Amino acid sequence: MILTDAANDTIGTSWKTEHKGLTTMTTERPLSPGKYLLVIEFTNDFNTRAVSLYRVVDDGLGYLFTQFEDNDARGAFPCWDEPEFKIPFKMILTVPERHIAVSNTPVQEETVSEGWKRVEFEETKPLPTYLLAIATGPLEAYEISGLSVPGKVYTVKGHAKLTALARAMTPPILNALENYFGRPYPYKKLDLIAVPEFWAGAMENAGAVTFREPILTADSATATISQRRRLAAVIAHELSHMWFGDLVTMEWWDDLWLNESFASWMGDKITNEVFPEFDMPIRVVRSSEGVMSADARKTTSPIHQKTQDDDNLLQNIGIIYSKGQAVLEMFEKWLGEETFQRGVRDYLKAHEWGNATADDFFSALSGAAGRDVTGPLSTFILQPGVPLVTIAPEEDGRITISQQRFANYGVSYEDTLRWQIPITMKYGIGDKTFTYSLLLTGADTTITLPEGKRPAWILPNAGMSGYYRWHVPAMMLVKMAKDAPKLLTPAERVGFLSNLSGLFHAGLLHGAGYLAVIHQFGQDPNPDVISSVIGLLGGVHEVFVSDANRAQFAAFVRQTLQPAVDRFGLQPQAGEPGAVSSLRPSLLGFIADEGADSAALHLATQLARTYLKDPRAVDPSLVGTCLSLAAIHGDKALFDTYVERFENAPTPVERSRFLSALGYFHD
Ligand SMILES: [Zn+2]
Repeated sequence: MILTDAANDTIGTSWKTEHKGLTTMTTERPLSPGKYLLVIEFTNDFNTRAVSLYRVVDDGLGYLFTQFEDNDARGAFPCWDEPEFKIPFKMILTVPERHIAVSNTPVQEETVSEGWKRVEFEETKPLPTYLLAIATGPLEAYEISGLSVPGKVYTVKGHAKLTALARAMTPPILNALENYFGRPYPYKKLDLIAVPEFWAGAMENAGAVTFREPILTADSATATISQRRRLAAVIAHELSHMWFGDLVTMEWWDDLWLNESFASWMGDKITNEVFPEFDMPIRVVRSSEGVMSADARKTTSPIHQKTQDDDNLLQNIGIIYSKGQAVLEMFEKWLGEETFQRGVRDYLKAHEWGNATADDFFSALSGAAGRDVTGPLSTFILQPGVPLVTIAPEEDGRITISQQRFANYGVSYEDTLRWQIPITMKYGIGDKTFTYSLLLTGADTTITLPEGKRPAWILPNAGMSGYYRWHVPAMMLVKMAKDAPKLLTPAERVGFLSNLSGLFHAGLLHGAGYLAVIHQFGQDPNPDVISSVIGLLGGVHEVFVSDANRAQFAAFVRQTLQPAVDRFGLQPQAGEPGAVSSLRPSLLGFIADEGADSAALHLATQLARTYLKDPRAVDPSLVGTCLSLAAIHGDKALFDTYVERFENAPTPVERSRFLSALGYFHD
């Protein structure tokens, strides 16, 4: 390290390096304010465990990639490795002459000498270190046309031909985001990079987004609807970060939710806008309901997490992504889409190129709404856990609505947490359906319905956009279950089932009643609802099934799912809705395995054998399930075949299919 002052005089220093490479430098005399230059000479080996600047060998060829979040940039070069320090960077790389080098900005200048190429990139906009990126090696690229800036998709050698789908999906997604934010994409170019053996789903490096290879290289000719949906949602999530996270960055990791809750919420919203055929709203409900189970546990923590521990900056990710998304969804519905959007735009404008905190976001929303949003929103962002809203109706139309912290059976909480909950109830009187909205701020409140009568049924979470569990009198649950397809939307039925599972785990519903309702929903005509039924059956299987009752449970599974098998079939039909194709793999898998249905198992095993002989002869949506089912009952020879196919897979998608199927073999 050499430190010089403005007059170019050297100042003596000593320094020491501690845990996580944190280096402290001490100068021999106090420094007065002014300009200084610190030069640090630094070398390090390439990492081989897919963090920091690391080396990957693919098909015998070497590549370098980076993954710096949260604090691994310091393994590649010395830096102030914390998100608050946003500065312009100048990246210069020297690579073998034939290699391609990619970073956050366009190449400014290249010079070649003696087999080496010096690549100088344009200076970046102010960025934190965790968003810098490098990718080099014998990469291939295709241009993305239709973007507002130049852009390419990069892959390792031989895989660029698999990127047509990614290149087609990216421009409309970017365009929809630019419209939502009311401002152009913030950087000069946008590259997407497919990285082999990448542990994260993707990483939002400004202008150089990295993706797990099988996600980005989903081939347009064979990709299933689930793979397409995933590709669109991951691209939309990462591109949302270009504004949320990159343009405006959290000041410290305790506000990681400002990045991740937002990108999750925005990404799914934009995916739904651009690709309505992917049925995102139901998936959003399912993810929100799913995270409530985790958030009900004692081990949960708030979305906004105080954290100083350098080893655990990215803890409790599920809460930040999924609960954060659900809470933003709830408050967007409460404030109205336009008001919420105005708040988001004001927030970006006020903090562009800089940093922000939760309070900055709360006050931008309050400003746009013209009322206090901080109070209600912070009860969900700063407190852990899930509220349970209980509805007690009277004959005259009065309803008492109360809240407490939701707890699983046998768990009690010392705290008396209260939330400020935006609630919209949907209820039926006679043949008519009504809604009623309120903000529940205290422990309980009593309202009077304008109709002045007790409803036959009340759904306390209309549209399932509220982040809370709810409880109504048992007769109302029975009524809603009986007439569900008539009274509730598909998203509400999915939420109803998940809430039911919550009530069961809280000890508020008996097992027999729970199973009866699950069985009843087996008749539902909607494939996404059937998918929820399978999820609930899976939960019962996991906790309650042993050798003693396995056969009985299998019979119950077959009876419950038979209507869906009859309705949708176990083999794909031309022109069927995407939701049916999405459901079938889990329907086939569940009825064959947990349901021990010999015909379904036989079919799956046959399809797996056919696939091994001729991959084009089996519908791609069923391949993963059939390979796994065949593996459960497979022998050593089949295991060896899978290993061989895994090692020689022609595409990343094929490779990950065999890898995951290998996990299903027994000893
Ligand atoms: Zn993200």
